[in-house]
Amino acid sequence: MLLGAHMSIAGGAFNALLEGEKLGCSTIQIFTKSSNQWKAKKLTDEELERYQAEQKRTGIRPVIAHDSYLINLGSPDAALVQKSREAFLHEMERCDLLNIPFLVTHPGAHMGQGEEWGLKRIAESIDWVHEHKADFKVKIALEVTAGQGSSLGYKFEHLTTIMEHARHHERIKVCLDTCHLFAAGYDISTEEGYHKTISEFDRIIGLKSLVAIHLNDSKKPLGSHVDRHEHIGKGQIGEKPFGFFIRDKRFEKIPKLLETPKENEMDRVNLAILRRLAGEK
Ligand code: ZN
Ligand code: MN
Ligand code: MN
Repeated sequence: MLLGAHMSIAGGAFNALLEGEKLGCSTIQIFTKSSNQWKAKKLTDEELERYQAEQKRTGIRPVIAHDSYLINLGSPDAALVQKSREAFLHEMERCDLLNIPFLVTHPGAHMGQGEEWGLKRIAESIDWVHEHKADFKVKIALEVTAGQGSSLGYKFEHLTTIMEHARHHERIKVCLDTCHLFAAGYDISTEEGYHKTISEFDRIIGLKSLVAIHLNDSKKPLGSHVDRHEHIGKGQIGEKPFGFFIRDKRFEKIPKLLETPKENEMDRVNLAILRRLAGEK
């Protein structure tokens, strides 16, 4: 079972692998740089070698990356969208150096320009990135969002529209997040709602495009459009629905990752719940 959590790279990217190993993770997610700063220190050869050695030793694979929260590929502001594109390009380069197959991103926010406008802007940004370096190994994974503010990606149709507008479809994949789905109004809390949501996803986007699932409970109710992660079973989704995801045979080879609050070694508790649910009938 590919199960893990988002891990800190404080002290070097290899540290995320060591932390993952301690918790028995078979996969992890990282930021390749500080998530709330534009600038990043260059990855040194020494750091890359250490990372590769630890990845080989721990067998944690794949490692998924999440992009910085400052990036808005849909920004109407010319300077900001340019800064975002350059930062995103930079993160894709770091992913290739770290052998990371997917860079998860919240598609972007239109900041009042309207949804259609924003979706086109995001597709243009993705085209810009791919045109600046066509031989990336890493692929972009657009994450379903809660739809907070003017954030796009809270409907499966948004992601399809971005892919349709962009030139290199085959380079764009998708990441689901249970908290975001629920906050966006997809009721995955019942078995019926779960199956309905996944078949809708398959019909509109296609299960083949799915490359990662974030497992987070939600502090806020169904359709609230507020993105607040909660520990598994402690939120509005409840524990049981996480079993639907974790036992779904179609998702066996998909990395499933916690992004829940880190206090009091709660990763250990959350992972134990998920492992128990995996064994239930
Ligand atoms: Zn995210
Ligand atoms: Mn997420
Ligand atoms: Mn979130």
